[in-house]
Amino acid sequence: MAAGRVSNLQDNPGGFVRRAGFARRCVAVAAVVVVLSGGRSAWAANRWPDERQAGPFFCHADFSLEPYEALLSELTRLQDDVVRELHVRPAHEPIHVYLFAKSSTYKRYVSHYFPAAPSRPALFIKDRGPGMVFAHRGEELPIDLRHEATHAVLHGALPMVPLWLDEGLAEYFEPPSADRENDSPHLRAVQRSLWIKGAPRMDRLEKLTDLAEMGAGEYRAAWSWVHFMLHGPPAAREELIHFLHDIAARAPPGELSQRLRRRLPDVEAQYVEHFRGWRR
Ligand SMILES: [Zn+2]
Repeated sequence: MAAGRVSNLQDNPGGFVRRAGFARRCVAVAAVVVVLSGGRSAWAANRWPDERQAGPFFCHADFSLEPYEALLSELTRLQDDVVRELHVRPAHEPIHVYLFAKSSTYKRYVSHYFPAAPSRPALFIKDRGPGMVFAHRGEELPIDLRHEATHAVLHGALPMVPLWLDEGLAEYFEPPSADRENDSPHLRAVQRSLWIKGAPRMDRLEKLTDLAEMGAGEYRAAWSWVHFMLHGPPAAREELIHFLHDIAARAPPGELSQRLRRRLPDVEAQYVEHFRGWRR
């Protein structure tokens, strides 16, 4: 999930730098101090037991990241994938990733520094400074990290992202890259619901403004529209890219549902056709 709104109350092995050099570390630490200025700098002044950089991601952990080198490298590849698929620019600012060995430490930490943030297993928070990802060690860490890193890359490139689309894209990019297209856990549920419900209403998703309004069904519906736009008719992909381009250019983007319907008047029928014909 992305908590930017809430806080406002709201990879490649070659690109991986094991233990950032002195200069880079100074940059990283300075950035953290800026982000946390206003009573929170004492927290930033402490070096973390392990700090590494992978592309734009500056990772700080209270445990050794050595076993996680491949996962951290994946984050850089994830940014490359997002940039290539969506034609957005790479994040132009650092993204800080804070990782905790224990979920209890993670929860205490987040609730102390971001009391308005919802209780979730992982968070992306962007207030005034660079984006920050918070997560803890565990079986779900790879998925959580890819999901939150997607939010971070999007918000590093764009001035805003509609809530539902933000979550739909994060859901799309959270599986390992080889599984995204055909092995998302959402796929079967979406295909089953076609017979009963047809295409979910994108215009309803567009009205959601609070994460609390997004349950499993909304996440699945958002994922499905992203899958349709990225792997369905080329015109749908083009419209998504143009929509994001308008946002990047700070031009009023309008509603994506209306833009899609202008390009594809029978968009719901094409959605149903897309998933009915989609084979794993
Ligand atoms: Zn999310």
